[in-house]
Amino acid sequence: MYKVGFVGLGIMGLPMAKNILKAGYEITVYDNNDYKIKKMVDVGAKGARSSMEVAKNSDVIITMLPNSPHVEAAIFGENGLAEGLSRGKAVIDMSSISPVASKEFYSKLKEKGVDFLDAPVSGGEPGAIEGTIAVMVGGDKPVFDKYYDLLMTMAASVTYVGEAGSGNIAKLANQMIVAANISAMSEAYVFAKKAGADPKVVFEAIRGGLAGSRVMEQKSPKIFDKDYEPGFRIELHIKDLQNALDTAHNDNISIPIAASAMEILQACKVDGQEKKDHSAIVKFFEKINNIEV
Ligand code: NAD
Repeated sequence: MYKVGFVGLGIMGLPMAKNILKAGYEITVYDNNDYKIKKMVDVGAKGARSSMEVAKNSDVIITMLPNSPHVEAAIFGENGLAEGLSRGKAVIDMSSISPVASKEFYSKLKEKGVDFLDAPVSGGEPGAIEGTIAVMVGGDKPVFDKYYDLLMTMAASVTYVGEAGSGNIAKLANQMIVAANISAMSEAYVFAKKAGADPKVVFEAIRGGLAGSRVMEQKSPKIFDKDYEPGFRIELHIKDLQNALDTAHNDNISIPIAASAMEILQACKVDGQEKKDHSAIVKFFEKINNIEV
């Protein structure tokens, strides 16, 4: 069994690291926040004082961090993973970041004889806790095959998408659909309310039909309960759509629906909602229509 390292013990990383531990792997962890390291040490992990120390103690290191600059700092920054990595080890970045950055990290680590996979996830905090996330992977296929079992300790599905960066292309596609879906659903609930139907009853009426979705199932109760605790923060969704827009424009692709969803998320941020769950998108539609769901 590989000795596993884990850097980034946030909303997603902490439960994911716990599932690796539960599967019987030895795991060494680091986060910028000491309290989060302690939470893992309390359940049997080894705590490290830096990413470098994690890399020295591990064969394969998973990172679960907010965005490309955080991953770059954790790998190539001072006391970063790169200072403790040697030929034959591997880094699996499970953060949702720019595919361009993933390709760059892949190439820089390859020069050192270190393998790299971009392996972002979908399924949110509930999926991370239950070990049922969906993982989408870019990189070299033999490296994917080597670490498939490790990734499955956290997931219900682990899919090889293609060369380096492809995992994050799949993830951005996922995020475009989710942002558009929550926006359309929020608009429809506000529409139903103002036009004279109870949104909760509308939900019951349509959830089994074509409009029904996992987004509808997970986010409708949060909207009806006005429970906007994250979950998935609006600021992270803005980060994803920015990465999608940058990638699209760089590759001469037009994504008008994602651009509209981005402006809705941006309006939520202007309104001070950026730390709230993305189900708080509904507040945008409530405000412009002067009614609450
Ligand atoms: P989070 O902000 O809760 O956690 C990030 C953690 O990284 C924090 O504990 C922070 O202290 C730590 N950190 C930041 N920089 C660091 C560094 N250089 N070295 C060590 N630790 C560092 O974020 P999250 O919600 O867990 O999301 C992580 C990634 O997963 C993001 O890319 C996000 O888009 C993606 N994601 C999140 C969800 C979700 O529902 N929250 C779902 C799917 C994917």
